[in-house]
Amino acid sequence: MHMSDLHIKEHEPLAKHTVFRIGGPARFYADVDSRDQWIAAFSFAEDHGVPWMVLGAGSNVLVSDAGFPGLVIHPVGGGVRHENGVVEADAGVSMARVVADTLVHGLRGFEWAIGVPGTIGGSVVGNAGCFGSEMKDVVVSILAYDTEARAARDVPAAACAFGYRDSMFKRAPQLVVLAARLALQPGDAARGQELVRAYTFKRHAGQDIGAQTAGCAFKNIPWTRRDIDKDAVLRQFPDVGRSGTVPGIAAGLLIDRAGLKGYQIGGAKISERHGNFIINVGNARAEDVVMLIALAKERVHRMFGIFLEEEIRYIGFEDSATEREPLAKRG
Ligand SMILES: Cc1cc2nc3c(=O)[nH]c(=O)nc-3n(C[C@H](O)[C@H](O)[C@H](O)COP(=O)(O)OP(=O)(O)OC[C@H]3O[C@@H](n4cnc5c(N)ncnc54)[C@H](O)[C@@H]3O)c2cc1C
Repeated sequence: MHMSDLHIKEHEPLAKHTVFRIGGPARFYADVDSRDQWIAAFSFAEDHGVPWMVLGAGSNVLVSDAGFPGLVIHPVGGGVRHENGVVEADAGVSMARVVADTLVHGLRGFEWAIGVPGTIGGSVVGNAGCFGSEMKDVVVSILAYDTEARAARDVPAAACAFGYRDSMFKRAPQLVVLAARLALQPGDAARGQELVRAYTFKRHAGQDIGAQTAGCAFKNIPWTRRDIDKDAVLRQFPDVGRSGTVPGIAAGLLIDRAGLKGYQIGGAKISERHGNFIINVGNARAEDVVMLIALAKERVHRMFGIFLEEEIRYIGFEDSATEREPLAKRG
């Protein structure tokens, strides 16, 4: 292990590393670009008795104003490999880069991912998706590192328990995504490029491109959610069912109906264009976002009797699910 290769920064502002541009400092922060460096990072957290977490592109997280009291591990670099028709992409590679790479290799089926501003690792964890496709449609298996067993292992797609913006990785804090293997189909790259342009255009039409945000703050509400009485909702609000591409109720529509588009607390504002986007319009604090989230939940529940559930993940707050306890020291 080349521990010395690991460069640890101290008190690194996480606002620099999130798309929201919000978040206090990480006590420790390390870029990792190889298996050895991942392992060196886990050892560092263990030796210092601090919690740790992985941060991808920081496009789906809200980091608290207090920051994170442990080690933030940030995969960088990495590559995309092709073997027997299967594409293997390292965790830190951006979704857009994989789209570009697969089209160059004449592979189709990943175009939808062009506008998801995250890494492969973060997108596996949250089963990212849009335009009717999601990671679970293309993942064959995940190369994961098990920090308890201290070994890498292959997790087949069937064992990933992918669901709507969900996977078992959210509930298996000992597992880190090192790489994903994707199955795509050979096809006409020019047609793929056209699709990429069409998806990009659609996104520009409906979202605030380039804004400081964390994407959708809330999950949309599938009709299958146990607390949702579809008939009762549609009787009361007939147009709520017409949410375009969302199979269920679009959270953004509920927030819009609750009259909250454009509502601002401190530096955080609910987008005028997309009710599910919270935007940092300048020097927003995490606390502003937290209050806006609470307000949206309260108003939507009061109006529709529906509980909104966060899609974004909290870091550095009490009970943040994304943080890992210090690793048990080996005697
Ligand atoms: C403008 C905008 C548009 C968006 N559009 C979409 C969309 O269309 N569809 C969609 O699904 N999402 C969308 N998102 C949300 C976000 O881009 C996705 O959820 C993305 O997959 C998150 O990846 P990330 O690398 O940024 O993860 P991060 O935000 O860095 O992390 C997310 C979670 O994954 C964990 N994690 C990250 N990497 C690893 C790893 N290697 N191993 C273990 N855990 C890891 C983190 O600890 C954290 O809990 C959008 C966001 C923005 C800002």
